[in-house]
Amino acid sequence: VMRWFDERCAGSKAMATRAQAVIPGGVQHNLAFNHPFPIAIRQAEGAWLSDIDGNRYLDFLQAGGPTLLGSNPPAVREKVVAVLNECGPVTGLLHEYEVKLAELVCRHMPGVEMLRMLGSGTEAVMGAVRLARTHTRKRWVIKIGGAYHGWSDQLVYGMRLPKTGRMEAVGIPRGATAQTQECLPNDPEALRRLLRWNRLRGGTAAVLVEPFGPESGTRPVHKDFNAQVRRLCDEFGALLIFDEVVTGFRAGLSGAQGYFGVTPDLTVLGKCLTGGYPMSGAIGGRKDIMMSLVGGIGTTSRRAFVGGTLSANPMTCVAGYHALLETERTNAPVMAGRAGDRLRRGLDEIIQRRGLPYVAYNLGSIVHLQTSGVLLLDTSSLLKLIRVKEEARRRKHMMEEMGAAFTAHGLISVAGSRLYTSLADTDEVVDEALNRFDDV
Ligand code: PMP
Repeated sequence: VMRWFDERCAGSKAMATRAQAVIPGGVQHNLAFNHPFPIAIRQAEGAWLSDIDGNRYLDFLQAGGPTLLGSNPPAVREKVVAVLNECGPVTGLLHEYEVKLAELVCRHMPGVEMLRMLGSGTEAVMGAVRLARTHTRKRWVIKIGGAYHGWSDQLVYGMRLPKTGRMEAVGIPRGATAQTQECLPNDPEALRRLLRWNRLRGGTAAVLVEPFGPESGTRPVHKDFNAQVRRLCDEFGALLIFDEVVTGFRAGLSGAQGYFGVTPDLTVLGKCLTGGYPMSGAIGGRKDIMMSLVGGIGTTSRRAFVGGTLSANPMTCVAGYHALLETERTNAPVMAGRAGDRLRRGLDEIIQRRGLPYVAYNLGSIVHLQTSGVLLLDTSSLLKLIRVKEEARRRKHMMEEMGAAFTAHGLISVAGSRLYTSLADTDEVVDEALNRFDDV
């Protein structure tokens, strides 16, 4: 595998070396897996990526999820270019596409009566949590352990792993996370205990969940778990926030809330919301809660302060509107979901035939491939796993090796362990990918 990188990726390697001199680590995201170095991309179209050395790859990274329609769909690009020709990227005033995008999202998402655009998923989660505290006047926010909600101080990734300590919570004052609590998935009784404990200590403002389970379903939740959380939130007067940054439009046009039939009070969107165009983040929710964003003006109610200079710019909103129209027209969540099913079935077949100690599973277009040798399917094994630092290190190493091997066979993945499918993944594309996985 390493020989392949040396022989076939000289341009990317030189670019990565240049990048490392001026960009910390040569990467722009601390979760970027780029072993042995990142591939420099020149062209992206549909299911395919081409690098600057002329190698071609089937793309199952999908930029980390946003490109449900495949890379660079012309139907969206042409509308973006037209708006840019007309008014450029930003004016700071109202544009019709802001309204059209909000109307469309409100029509599809059961829990979204109003929408406020922000710059990223991280920002939108921060805003939603602030809104929840403003509306309820309560204190605690409970997240489900191991979930990723961006990199804000109060919700930083892996902030309290048992025994291994505060993995990523470096540079964050203790006070910033002091009112955030974690609860393991699939354990409604533990959640109830926490809610009860909080009741006499300022109350719970919100329970924040990734509805497919922490890390886009890397630790999947029971099909009833979200409904159980909904009932507990109602019982204790806490708001339920769905972080649908990944599932929003991937799980269907009505998101994971439509998929599970559970309506949250607030919804966080990002990624697919704008088909991969930048400044993609939004808070949606019940009107009475969302109105806390304007509360202060001429009223006595409180106002949560949320806003960004470049959020809801015309380019982002036109991209979002047309990406969603295309998603409707093409039935992209279902089509990409079928590709995910086909890919997972094929991976299963390879795993069985070759007797590999791996597990593949999927929720529509989100396909997980566990190659660590330790299943993360229940929380007790998760606990055992993260208690043993050595095992965690081994697992990361395994994922890096696997990711590199996939790349050398023309497959780009999320860290060798997750594969997003898109509308561009026809049966032929998936079958071609499966041949390559078999070779790996
Ligand atoms: N929430 C979830 C569930 C996510 O997967 C992500 C990004 N992977 C975020 C929030 C943060 O979004 P962003 O990277 O746009 O800040």
